[in-house]
Amino acid sequence: MRKKIVLLIVLFFYCNNFLFAQTVENQITSTNWENNSLIINTVNKISYIESKLKNPDRLIIDILNCSFQDKKLLANYKSETSEDVSITEQPPDKVRIIFIGEASINRKSYLSNNDRTLITRIARIETEVPGEMKNDETEKETHPPGKFKDLIIENEEGETKVIVSASKSMKYNTYILKNPDRFAIDLLNILPPDIPALKFKPTPFIAGIRIGRAASGVETTRIVFDLLRSDLDCKIDSNLLGNKLEIKFKINREKQEVVKKSGIKVVIDPGHGGYDTGASYGGFEEKDINLVISEKLKKSLEDVGITVFLTRDEDSFLSLAERVEITNSIKPDVFISIHGNALVSSRVIRGVETYYWTSQSHKLAYFIHKSILNYVKIPDHYIRQAQFYVIRHASCPAVLAELGFLSNHEDRKLLTNSTTQDEYAKALTKAILKFLDIEQDRVQKKENAKQ
Ligand SMILES: [Zn+2]
Repeated sequence: MRKKIVLLIVLFFYCNNFLFAQTVENQITSTNWENNSLIINTVNKISYIESKLKNPDRLIIDILNCSFQDKKLLANYKSETSEDVSITEQPPDKVRIIFIGEASINRKSYLSNNDRTLITRIARIETEVPGEMKNDETEKETHPPGKFKDLIIENEEGETKVIVSASKSMKYNTYILKNPDRFAIDLLNILPPDIPALKFKPTPFIAGIRIGRAASGVETTRIVFDLLRSDLDCKIDSNLLGNKLEIKFKINREKQEVVKKSGIKVVIDPGHGGYDTGASYGGFEEKDINLVISEKLKKSLEDVGITVFLTRDEDSFLSLAERVEITNSIKPDVFISIHGNALVSSRVIRGVETYYWTSQSHKLAYFIHKSILNYVKIPDHYIRQAQFYVIRHASCPAVLAELGFLSNHEDRKLLTNSTTQDEYAKALTKAILKFLDIEQDRVQKKENAKQ
């Protein structure tokens, strides 16, 4: 096989650096190469764009709104499979990681640690038989561009199919964009339509579609799909007849099976968010703790077949009215708002406090309160009736749980420790199941009885 020489040219726009430096929201605190994986840790949630390019095979990850906490962390790695990994800052607000190597390398990225860690795993594709490498780079340049013709959307059960056609066969690059979830495809050497407006009815998976030119001066059509769910698989079939390309959006089956099981819905409301940090003690902000525990609770409820909605799944501000509006439009069986308590006047006061307002919520509050005391070593700070906005206006049994005092050292340890966070999630799951009068293994049976 012929070795390809690759030139990487990185342009820095130094002049812009100072003008835009203050807009960067996220910072990289560490980069590591471990077990054939690049591990990047950041302060805040990572928002990134992934692009796959061919000839030579590259994976490009742009971490948006991000810079390095310490420029000394900028590093290059060479993997065990002789993949080159370069990490550069792209002023004003991007960090770019380029993986470059052989075509028979599989690179997979995913977020972990509450979206604050990005892991990219490199593996050799064992099954591939090395064949003749065709050099089609020159072909691309000499051929005149084709034209985008149309885009047809077909909805089937559990699947949205998009068929794109052009005046010639298409080569493409795809991109996955997170926060918010989008899927983009660039049709190379295909001119975009003159009128990019598109008649489009939202599907269960796609909220909107935009078609345009990928970049000025480039004969590439970019189609961006705004996705309504983050658990979608996007598969492309480019072997259709008549210069067509099919994109299939489907729910990742593993998740779908869990969600479909019981028909029971729970809304979890992680308190505060965005500029509203909630209580703040010992370097911890309540909004983050609320979200971590809410996400753990979501996972735990989903594991027993319950459909779970979060009022927010990122660090964003949401008004109380919006939280109620989301909840009441879902019509859940249970609503729970997750909070951490705080007291300015005393650092000694500690314990769990559970609030309810309506009479139909009293039993739920009781089960939740008892279950937390049962699972977590924390004092009892009583069940209370209070008119908090979210529990007063939710149309279903609703509870606001103050899981402990952030202002107290002992409670704070419980709230910020991953193991006790799991215990809180387990306690709340047990309580919700008890309230709904279902045992874990009976969720499936209840579903059968409903039919
Ligand atoms: Zn709070």
